[in-house]
Amino acid sequence: MGKNLSEFPVQYIKGVGPRRAKLLNTLGIKTAEEALYSLPYRYEDRKNIKKISALGYGQLETVIGKVVAAEIIKLPKRNMKLFELTVSDGSGLVKGKWFNQPFLKKNFEVGQEVILSGVVKRNPYWGIGFEFDNPEYEFVTDDGDAFIHTARIVPIYRTTSGLSERQLRTIMFNLINTCIKEVHDHIPDEILIRNNFPGITESILNSHFPESGTDIDSLNSGASIYQKRLYFDELFKFELGLSVIKRGKEIDKGIAFSSDGVLVRKFLGALKFKLTSAQQRVFEEILHDMRRPHPMNRLLQGDVGCGKTVIAVMAMLTAAECGYQSALMAPTEILAGQHYINIHKMIEDTGLNICLMTGSKNILRGEREALRCDIASGKINIVIGTHALIQEGVEFKNLGLAIIDEQHRFGVMQRALLRKKALNPDILVMTATPIPRTLSMTLYGDLDYSVIDELPPGRRPVITRLFNAGQKEYIYRAIAEETKKCRQVYVVYPVIDETEKTNLKSAIIGKEALEKIFPKLKVELIHGRLKPQERENIMASFKKGEIDVLVSTTVIEVGVDVPNAAMMLIVHAERFGLSQLHQLRGRVGRGGSQSYCFLLMYEPVSEDAKRRLDIMVKSSDGFKIAEEDLNIRGPGEFFGTRQAGMPDLKLANIIRDARLLDTARKEAFALIDKDSELNSFPDLKNGLEMFWKGKIELFKTG
Ligand code: ADP
Ligand code: MG
Repeated sequence: MGKNLSEFPVQYIKGVGPRRAKLLNTLGIKTAEEALYSLPYRYEDRKNIKKISALGYGQLETVIGKVVAAEIIKLPKRNMKLFELTVSDGSGLVKGKWFNQPFLKKNFEVGQEVILSGVVKRNPYWGIGFEFDNPEYEFVTDDGDAFIHTARIVPIYRTTSGLSERQLRTIMFNLINTCIKEVHDHIPDEILIRNNFPGITESILNSHFPESGTDIDSLNSGASIYQKRLYFDELFKFELGLSVIKRGKEIDKGIAFSSDGVLVRKFLGALKFKLTSAQQRVFEEILHDMRRPHPMNRLLQGDVGCGKTVIAVMAMLTAAECGYQSALMAPTEILAGQHYINIHKMIEDTGLNICLMTGSKNILRGEREALRCDIASGKINIVIGTHALIQEGVEFKNLGLAIIDEQHRFGVMQRALLRKKALNPDILVMTATPIPRTLSMTLYGDLDYSVIDELPPGRRPVITRLFNAGQKEYIYRAIAEETKKCRQVYVVYPVIDETEKTNLKSAIIGKEALEKIFPKLKVELIHGRLKPQERENIMASFKKGEIDVLVSTTVIEVGVDVPNAAMMLIVHAERFGLSQLHQLRGRVGRGGSQSYCFLLMYEPVSEDAKRRLDIMVKSSDGFKIAEEDLNIRGPGEFFGTRQAGMPDLKLANIIRDARLLDTARKEAFALIDKDSELNSFPDLKNGLEMFWKGKIELFKTG
């Protein structure tokens, strides 16, 4: 697209001006280019012109005829004025009624030919006749002007108060007519040809004012070839940016770790179990990356409990053996604390130094300073902390490997920051949230990808059941039975305290109630407002089996590992998101015994919540659950590109356009492989930089 359009303010488009320009700005339209790419959100078919005598009540219909009367009628009761237009086409009469818009009268003259479009009603007094309230209208002139509001497939745009549909549509029509000749295709021809895409000009024209004969349903489902072409452009630029980032990192200089694996072999020898073949394969993939003289950028995905921690430890041992430090960062302090305890134990015999570095206030300042010194001097080999570790400016002597656990909130830009802090360390992102393919192609599209798709042997799927408040007795009996067998139970609440606003059952009240019901059991409470040390003590005590029932909020969502806990009750399960429920459920079923997850719901339960609970009962496959989650929540909420520091997708929808995304990714990576700096495509390069708004250092030299 010509550069001028992206800088041309809409204010100077015919019919806009400063006041309307402000309104357009609130719709996200500042420039002519932004207007061209602000597509209608739906379309109405107003092209079938009907004889008035054949009109159907309740239908959206369009008629053409001559004005036989145009008058203002005073409605004494409501002190209102009604403008009433009567139109005849020879077969009958139809009236158009506009309330409180007497000024419209001056637009119409008897004998003039007009088109009206609206929903057909009966006269409210007579119960017969044909009327439209606030119909769309258009004049039939003989200068051959195209119709904008009637007699065609009409675009409906999102608008804002102060700017009517009709005004906005007129603006768009003028704008497209003035600007379309400035639009130039910058997608390489061969890509367009290979994928049978129409040209950019036709695509914009037809996505706004579709040519007659276009299928209205395909337009309304975003499936017309012209709309798809525009969605493709957006996805293509998105993927092109990712491929530039990814390929750029691949040629960056990084550390070539050259260990012979002594520490890892020693570690494996002391392990109580054998790695699964998926774990072995993934570690090979990581090792391969680590040995190369370029930075690793890998996403490790694996369902809860598949054994990612062991892999992380093996990677850190490899780095340590080569004299480099590692950092493992978790999203919460409680998780970082647990990683620290677990990993500390795992590597006790290696002689390596490990420390926990969190922002929590119960670490003394002096202690923290001492830790900082030891990290800076290189005395500490492995640092466990939260995601804030990097932002807090902890200085490493030689950070060689950064592992980010359970991120989801750790985007491209944060990773870039991390990379700047150290000298291109290897980066491994681990996530237990299975990511639908479409998301891994976008949110994590700059990473290589490994998956542990196998659980350690002996795991049995958790039996999941749904209950309502009337069935609590059954749940209590089950808890009694389970604890009699010396197994432990989690009870999860959505909130710590009861508040009038939410009216939800809370963990504090829940704990008291459970203590009354089970006087012989040890019931304990853990939540995010406790001091980290207190939480740690409680978790340790639960792990030792000293607590029978652990009442909590979602602080136990990720990472907690107590194999003897075989039952989980989730109270107000309807309040939790799907991936959250899945994460929570992953806390049980880690030992050899059959585990249970009880979902307790309180009415009212929304349709979406019902679907979520249904899926939880039916499936234990994390990938399937993630796909469903994406479908229910829609890409907008799930996508989070902006948080991740990526451009927004305004047109494309990664669910609806999953196949297009696939194509866009393939084409983008192929193009960057062929012409890594897009030297043959200056317009595309320019468009790409604008789309990513400088977020990628495109084509940095040297
Ligand atoms: P993740 O972080 O992927 O959710 P963890 O690394 O916490 O999973 O492992 C879950 C549990 O499974 C831990 O108790 C761990 O010791 C155990 N585990 C890991 N790998 C294996 C294996 N190959 N065989 C048996 N148990 C394993
Ligand atoms: Mg984990």
